[in-house]
Amino acid sequence: MFKRRVSIVGGGIVGLAVADRLARRGAEVILFEKESRRAR
Ligand SMILES: Cc1cc2nc3c(=O)[nH]c(=O)nc-3n(C[C@H](O)[C@H](O)[C@H](O)COP(=O)(O)OP(=O)(O)OC[C@H]3O[C@@H](n4cnc5c(N)ncnc54)[C@H](O)[C@@H]3O)c2cc1C
Repeated sequence: MFKRRVSIVGGGIVGLAVADRLARRGAEVILFEKESRRAR
């Protein structure tokens, strides 16, 4: 069984929510955010 690897572009509320959901389901998530801080 391989571990799913997912890349998400954008650390806004949607990107963070999707990253959280996928990580909780066991995926390896890489989040790309162009700004130095995440969504507030
Ligand atoms: C002035 C204003 C006021 C608002 N007020 C409200 C409110 O009161 N209540 C409400 O519910 N909604 C409000 N909204 C709407 C809300 O901000 C958006 O619906 C919500 O932020 C969308 O989330 P998102 O994750 O899709 O996009 P965004 O929040 O825009 O996040 C996208 C992220 O992707 C990053 N990004 C973009 N391009 C790249 C790239 N090439 N590589 C890496 N990272 C990248 C950006 O830096 C950003 O962090 C407001 C919007 C604005 C503009």
